[in-house]
Amino acid sequence: MVMVADTTRCRCGNHAQRQLTDVVWAESGTTYSIRNVPIWHCNNKACCEEIIPSSVQLNVSFLADDMRAGKLSSDTQYRELF
Ligand SMILES: [Zn+2]
Repeated sequence: MVMVADTTRCRCGNHAQRQLTDVVWAESGTTYSIRNVPIWHCNNKACCEEIIPSSVQLNVSFLADDMRAGKLSSDTQYRELF
């Protein structure tokens, strides 16, 4: 897990910190991994909020489509398409 200095505020009022997180899921017997997705995690342990910006959600869903279609490896680094 790589930590970066950027912070934002969670809706609970605590700071959230951007962490590069692997998004992994299984589908039709294949395991797919998108590495180093920038997701914000709330510092408040009782909150556990994960904040995924809509641009990141969009990139993840497009990468996932290409991975399912075989255009990308099932183990792919996250990248900005938009
Ligand atoms: Zn929070």
